[in-house]
Amino acid sequence: MIIGVPKEIKNHEYRVGLTPAAAKEFVANGHSVLIENNAGAAIGFYNEDYVAAGATIIDTPEEIFATAEMIVKVKEPQPNECKMLREGQTLYTYLHLAPDPVQTELLVKSGATCIAYETVTDNHGGLPLLAPMSEVAGRMSIQAGAHHLEKAQGGSGTLLGGVPGVAPAKVVVVGGGVVGTNAAKMAVGMGADVTILDRSLPRLRQLDDIFRGSVKTVYSTVDAIDYYTAKADLVVGAVLIPGAAAPKLITKEHIKNMKPGSVLVDVAIDQGGCFETSKATTHQDPTYVIDDVVHYCVANMPGGVARTSTMALNNATLPFGLALANKGPKKAMLEDQHLLNGLNVHKGKVTYKAVVDALGESL
Ligand code: NAD
Repeated sequence: MIIGVPKEIKNHEYRVGLTPAAAKEFVANGHSVLIENNAGAAIGFYNEDYVAAGATIIDTPEEIFATAEMIVKVKEPQPNECKMLREGQTLYTYLHLAPDPVQTELLVKSGATCIAYETVTDNHGGLPLLAPMSEVAGRMSIQAGAHHLEKAQGGSGTLLGGVPGVAPAKVVVVGGGVVGTNAAKMAVGMGADVTILDRSLPRLRQLDDIFRGSVKTVYSTVDAIDYYTAKADLVVGAVLIPGAAAPKLITKEHIKNMKPGSVLVDVAIDQGGCFETSKATTHQDPTYVIDDVVHYCVANMPGGVARTSTMALNNATLPFGLALANKGPKKAMLEDQHLLNGLNVHKGKVTYKAVVDALGESL
């Protein structure tokens, strides 16, 4: 199969669909890989690395879309990219169609077979192609929080780990899933005093086992949120209710009761955020202050560490990508229900129920 990797064109998106190592795997499986000129250069994956991996460098996205049988990307295709897709071609990338009628309509019109990373499933009820980005965002949330606790960044001037003789900062993680667990790991590693709130008892039990007493686990109630947010130096919002907007668990009143110079990192901002005062920010201008509380609400946190994120994403997407190329998309999906769950648009029809439910009228 001919695999095409165009350069990402969304503002400040430096990730790339295939690393040179992943390109080498496709080549080793007998496929041709076309990489757009400098597609990975911004994160240190240079043309010569791809050539050494057996790929071919192509000057323009137009040539890639015209030639490739499968397009591998990171972000959803932009309108001009959608218009270059065609029937019989496979698109393998993040799509997030439910809130995006314009993109959905363009993909339907294209006739292409569009597989969304975010809806591919696994045997444990998880989303294996979303998890790496949650791992990245969770770990980054503590790095970002620690930075913004510094005085010059608007914070209270508190060091997460404290020092001998000075108590560590209090970190409260609301939602103990993939993001929350990774946030807690980093916070514990830096010596902070960490509490995780979740409303799933089985999850709290698992966390108790994983952390062996190095974090406190607390059942998430309004009362617990009242108590822990008022004492916190750093609160990480990491809740998810699958398929729904994030619940506004931390209200304006909670923010008023927080310590001056404390920091909120709302990782759930991509689902609307779990703080009532959250609004999406960017890596260029990541924070704003309300009631003396610093808010960090960057919607695409993994983009800030694009090199690590690209490698983490490729580790997860590669096995499914190889199956699509080796068997052909139809056979690969018919043999693997989890990959089939990734199919969102096919031959002019939306094939994913949640997208139909969300966009029904506008389709
Ligand atoms: P997850 O499903 O692994 O974990 C979510 C957790 O929230 C679960 O353990 C669930 O029990 C818990 N929860 C639900 N309701 C709760 C409540 N009322 N109180 C406390 N806990 C509650 O999800 P995840 O992969 O960790 O993702 C968390 C959020 O981070 C999602 O909104 C996801 O979209 C977002 N995310 C954002 C970025 C970014 O760049 N901003 C990157 C990755 C993920």
